[in-house]
Amino acid sequence: MLLVVNLRHLAKHNLVLQGELPARELDIDTHDEVIRVTQPLRVDAEVQKLAKSLLLRGELRLALDCLCVRCLKPFQHRLAIEDWTCHVPLDGEEAARVVNDCVDLTPYVREDILLALPQHPLCDPKCHGLKQPDIGKAKKSGTGLVGKDPSAWAELDKLQL
Ligand SMILES: [Zn+2]
Repeated sequence: MLLVVNLRHLAKHNLVLQGELPARELDIDTHDEVIRVTQPLRVDAEVQKLAKSLLLRGELRLALDCLCVRCLKPFQHRLAIEDWTCHVPLDGEEAARVVNDCVDLTPYVREDILLALPQHPLCDPKCHGLKQPDIGKAKKSGTGLVGKDPSAWAELDKLQL
């Protein structure tokens, strides 16, 4: 499928976008070696024409090929954006390009996927990564909190999003 909608059709009724967008069409360059997009994007959305914009609502799902930033293990991260909404302006400076009454929604979907990519992919939120010699020493100090530090950082990372 392609994420192209015809405005004349939309004037009459809402359109449903349902299917898979090939990775080459989504064309996401993560600029990052730990995340690769090779699987198709699953789209299940409804497009509604408002007075000066298009409203997209639905779900986006994409399996990402990731490398854990802690232990370097390859794993698949299933990205799911539920309750996805997106406004595509048809008026003003930011207006979408209309060609033969059609609007390509791919750039807007690409933008939202980029924003939703994990900042630091982890194979498991509790991944302790590669064994480091200094962890053994720290444990001997008896605080008992050392092992929890990595997940504490993960929580902080989430907040920074
Ligand atoms: Zn890991």
